[in-house]
Amino acid sequence: MIDATHDPQLRSWVESANAEGTDFPVQNLPYARFRRASGKAWRIGVAIGDRVLDLGQARDAVAWPGEVAALIGPLASGDLNTLMGQPIAARRALRAALSSALARGSDLQSALQRCLLPQAAVEYSLACHIGDYSDFYTGIHHARAVGKLFRPDNPLLPNYRWVPIAYHGRTSSIGVSGQRIRRPNGQTKGEGPTPDFGPCRRLDYELELGLLIGPGNALSEPIPIAEAEQHLFGVTLLNDWSARDIQAWEYQPLGPFLAKSFATTLSPWVVTMEALAPFRRPFARPAQDPAPMPYLDSDSNRASGMLDISLETSLVTDAMRRAGAAPVRLAASNSAEAAYWTPAQLVAHHTVNGCNLRPGDLLGSGTMSGPEAHQAGSLLELTDGGKRPIALPGGEQRTFLEDGDTVIMRGWCERAGFVRIGLGEVAGTVVPALRS
Ligand code: CA
Repeated sequence: MIDATHDPQLRSWVESANAEGTDFPVQNLPYARFRRASGKAWRIGVAIGDRVLDLGQARDAVAWPGEVAALIGPLASGDLNTLMGQPIAARRALRAALSSALARGSDLQSALQRCLLPQAAVEYSLACHIGDYSDFYTGIHHARAVGKLFRPDNPLLPNYRWVPIAYHGRTSSIGVSGQRIRRPNGQTKGEGPTPDFGPCRRLDYELELGLLIGPGNALSEPIPIAEAEQHLFGVTLLNDWSARDIQAWEYQPLGPFLAKSFATTLSPWVVTMEALAPFRRPFARPAQDPAPMPYLDSDSNRASGMLDISLETSLVTDAMRRAGAAPVRLAASNSAEAAYWTPAQLVAHHTVNGCNLRPGDLLGSGTMSGPEAHQAGSLLELTDGGKRPIALPGGEQRTFLEDGDTVIMRGWCERAGFVRIGLGEVAGTVVPALRS
């Protein structure tokens, strides 16, 4: 699915989109939902360099061809879900139109120039309405490291290599980058027979990708894996905030509940599957591992099922912020090395029992920890369960997150012969618990 929109020679008349290292060259064109100021109308925008193209204005500024105009209509009023429900051909037609409109030499430059705003000057919401959220556990290195903390002799449970493990998440507490995370109160295991109650003392993050669903499926009609990619719309960065002490006490036998449902943060920009087309890798398994069952296996999944996205997590503490210190990088990894299952396998598995997905539904990837200990996507792993503190610039230490800490996650894709694209960032700051 590589086409003219991926041409590495393509440049934009928006000069910041041609800068080395930008997340948003003309080859990317991700969507976000934004408004100019509090009280103004929400609309969908497209990132180009350090600007956002306001599709509310752009709809009226240009005589778009009929098919494209019909697709931009809902976007102009802030609705991304309608586009998400469209077939891939429609999405590709819109991408092609936006690409040529923003490319150097476009006749539309003078009309669209007035529809650009600085990204730094607008306010974002979640890009779409998320009806349902399921959080998978595809990070095998994460699963093994966390399993080892709880079950040293048996870190990976026997189902792990057969079933893409997941639980149903909570949508109401999903927020956009910049979210303030109120430290949760809850029950934790006590020293004696009675549990404690109070603020979480082991607050953590999890570095994940968020997969957003495009066209859905009817109830009781599974999506075959060969068609699964057509049901994926795009990817965001996802921070699955986790209260480890609450989780340890509550998680058996039904899995995490209040340890996860207090907050999940997404990046504002949705990078489309079309933009990610050049950044794929084969799905491969170690020879000793079982082959996936037929409903989780296809030629295209084997050839290019994996997303190849570089990821990193950084931290700024309150003291660092006051001292003007730059964020410190905690770890870096890559989604193709971290994940045991592909996005297509998650879609096929989620629907194999007949469960229906809808446009805008969110699938979390699970924590994207790399194979090495220093590539971990959570503090639980980086500090060996809180036993080995991390030293920070300025003399501070961390085992788990303190009030005032800001966690920043970034993602980007690079491949020879293509222009680098980025996912932007997701940031969130911990604020003190309510008095319990
Ligand atoms: Ca998770």
